[in-house]
Amino acid sequence: MLNGFFDLQVNGYAGVDFNQNDLKLDDLHSACSKLKEDNVAGILATIITDDLDRMKARLQRLVQLRDQDELIQEIIYGLHIEGPFINPKVGFRGAHSEDKIMPAQVEIMKQLLDAAQGLTRIVTLAPEVDDGYKVISMLAKTGITVSAGHSDASIDELQAAINEGLTMFTHLGNGCPMIMPRHDNIIQRALYLADKLWLCFIADGIHIVFPALHNYMRLAGYDKCIVVTDAMAGAGAVPGKYKIGDQELVVGQDRIVRKPGGTSLAGSAIDMRQCRHNLKHQLDLNEQQINQLTFTNPKKAINFLA
Ligand SMILES: [Zn+2]
Repeated sequence: MLNGFFDLQVNGYAGVDFNQNDLKLDDLHSACSKLKEDNVAGILATIITDDLDRMKARLQRLVQLRDQDELIQEIIYGLHIEGPFINPKVGFRGAHSEDKIMPAQVEIMKQLLDAAQGLTRIVTLAPEVDDGYKVISMLAKTGITVSAGHSDASIDELQAAINEGLTMFTHLGNGCPMIMPRHDNIIQRALYLADKLWLCFIADGIHIVFPALHNYMRLAGYDKCIVVTDAMAGAGAVPGKYKIGDQELVVGQDRIVRKPGGTSLAGSAIDMRQCRHNLKHQLDLNEQQINQLTFTNPKKAINFLA
């Protein structure tokens, strides 16, 4: 019997963008209600790179709205802060705004954590922009799961980050250029260290084609992998125009999320039920493996054992 799903990376759902400055209680409630209907037991609402004051205000708003509503408290277990300390190079930064990305700084990280009022469960950053791994070390000591993402860290940098408390890699296979050196690239490096890292994947068949996803998971082992949606507002909703923060996005009939006129992927429009369908029918996984990838492992990775 499945327990439902636990999704570590959700930017929005059912037409509601969690990165809106004026996110409304009713809208957040209805997104959580649709998540519950879709058998999602819990999520980390994800706030991505933007102007710092906006990021802080959005984190604060999510906390305030969550305080007011039992269903939101039940579904939004905590927050995932993705950025602004990521690799600014084209390809690695993905859809994150180049001019808002910055080197990691402990003081700024503390301000973001304060805004999230103890609800931060994961921070995604690029280890190579964290000088002396000070932010990683501070977060790990606070009990927050530190995840590498939008990163081109070398093996040595990843290993040093692991020594300071890095335990996860965010949407491996994405947040990197379409074309990279064939052997020495960030995907190979993360796979090489898979016994020390939880590896998160977007199982929509778009962000990673299924044969590659199958290879990655078999290599790392199903006990070290996690499936996330990285869903934006268009997940659990019809194709059309949506937003993430101030950015316009279009979900096509093909369920691919793009910036208008652009080609790079900007989050997914998949839901967890579709992920499960893909894991079962495209990767031929059994219920126990699917349960590990979509429920047990994500909770273990953030030390949520209840
Ligand atoms: Zn990302």
